[in-house]
Amino acid sequence: MIVSGVIGSFIALVEYRISNNQSIVFPRSHCDNCGYILKWFDLIPIISYIFLLGKCRKCKFKINRSFFLIELLTIVSTTMIYIFTLNIKYIPFLFILIFLSVQDFKNKFVSLSSILLLLLSTLLISFNIKKVIIVMVIYLFIFCFNNKFNFIGMADIDVLSICALVFNINQLINITLLSSSTCLIYFILIKRKTKTIPFIPFIFIGTVISICIQK
Ligand SMILES: [Zn+2]
Repeated sequence: MIVSGVIGSFIALVEYRISNNQSIVFPRSHCDNCGYILKWFDLIPIISYIFLLGKCRKCKFKINRSFFLIELLTIVSTTMIYIFTLNIKYIPFLFILIFLSVQDFKNKFVSLSSILLLLLSTLLISFNIKKVIIVMVIYLFIFCFNNKFNFIGMADIDVLSICALVFNINQLINITLLSSSTCLIYFILIKRKTKTIPFIPFIFIGTVISICIQK
């Protein structure tokens, strides 16, 4: 739990700095308002945020809430998967999927490098050349079809295809159904209806539930 919290914190930081065109390594974590360099005890996932009531220790400027939410999401999802499967093989895949979800949710855009990283992480779970070929053929078919009718974002197809490499057909159907239905519920609940809804966060939700309910 502590490790996944720290990784969640790292995911939030990397995403924040990339979308603000900052270096990932420098400067050290600091308050955006007064420049106060955060000490190690300001960086404990979840706990520091709660303890500081979401404000900078020095100037009381509000800390970006997304950091807290991403840490929480990372801890809850990885703990759930571990409890239900007693297996950690999906965890690296999940970390990268969280990163993509955050990117998609905040910017409605995901970088090619993070999709490639997700693809790479599938090697840790399984590699089956027959499956790769089948998925590639179906991917190309959907790619051409989508190019013409544009019914879903290209990155969403990329991520679902990568899921197809990792999971079996039943799980893939579960992921598709769960992500579509949670996305639909989200669309009904949000007040400001937009034409484009980031779909990768829902693929993430579908994937977590699907892994947890697998037999
Ligand atoms: Zn400050």
